[in-house]
Amino acid sequence: MIITLKSLSNPKEITLDLMNEIKTDYEFYGITQDPQTKNYMMVLNDKCKKCNKVCYAIYFQRNFESWTSGNDDINKFIQDAQLSAHNDLKETLEWIPYDRIYNIKYVEKIHAYKANWIDGYINQWDNKSDNWKRKDKNMIITLISINNPNSLTILDFINEIKMDYEFYGITQNPRTKHYMMVLNDKCKKCNHACYAIHFQQNFESWTSGNDDIDKFIQNTQLSAHNSTKEVLEWIYYDKLCNIKYIEKIGVYKANWIDGYINDWDNENQNWKRYGKSAIIVLKNLSNPKNITLDVINEVSFINEI
Ligand SMILES: [Zn+2]
Ligand SMILES: [Zn+2]
Repeated sequence: MIITLKSLSNPKEITLDLMNEIKTDYEFYGITQDPQTKNYMMVLNDKCKKCNKVCYAIYFQRNFESWTSGNDDINKFIQDAQLSAHNDLKETLEWIPYDRIYNIKYVEKIHAYKANWIDGYINQWDNKSDNWKRKDKNMIITLISINNPNSLTILDFINEIKMDYEFYGITQNPRTKHYMMVLNDKCKKCNHACYAIHFQQNFESWTSGNDDIDKFIQNTQLSAHNSTKEVLEWIYYDKLCNIKYIEKIGVYKANWIDGYINDWDNENQNWKRYGKSAIIVLKNLSNPKNITLDVINEVSFINEI
């Protein structure tokens, strides 16, 4: 751990009064002596006056010297957010070096960039490594430019953006010098990146080839806020094997290589699945326009029997 050493010029000074005085500003762990100078020193740790301990704000504050955005307003903005993070990291911000971001692509539809963030966001302090523990390594992020980074406009602009996104920090493109907010889509209903958001971020990566079916699947995915139980997905035919027609019941049976979606896996930024290679039933969908909630409910019922 990082400690502070404070000289005890006169060992006779060390009284309960002095100790109590020191303890208002510091955690007081002990006394040591420099063998060369013979000076006695108090071994201390900075502590937050509000929390009366070493809180998150103190860990951030110790690090103020190790980063700069190159812009005083932005530095102050990030520092203020960090100094307010006493027990809760949800609203905190950090300076994110541009080289920790990769796969940066402009997405016309949202007038913003999408990218991946190597480190993921700060989640907790780790005493063992004396560093932050992070979550969602390689997570998908959205980058939105801050056009005018001066103190008056930045706050309004940022507060507006924060309604729609999780806000992790600020970065700067070293070539264009543009400052950008590092964000994640958040669900307005859940106020965080719920299952619906993870599904939505994947909408571009699949299509059934039929708009009605796409829309139907997407709607079930957008309703899957906290549970994947009712969710549907587009399943590529080559993920099915041993397809056999069962005359007696008039449906096909097959094995589904991947199994069904069960949970979001933060580590791999992908879905966790259950029932790999499980036997499934395939039923013809003669007219894709017929795909309504009624049909689905009927099918769920059959499966439960
Ligand atoms: Zn504090
Ligand atoms: Zn949600």
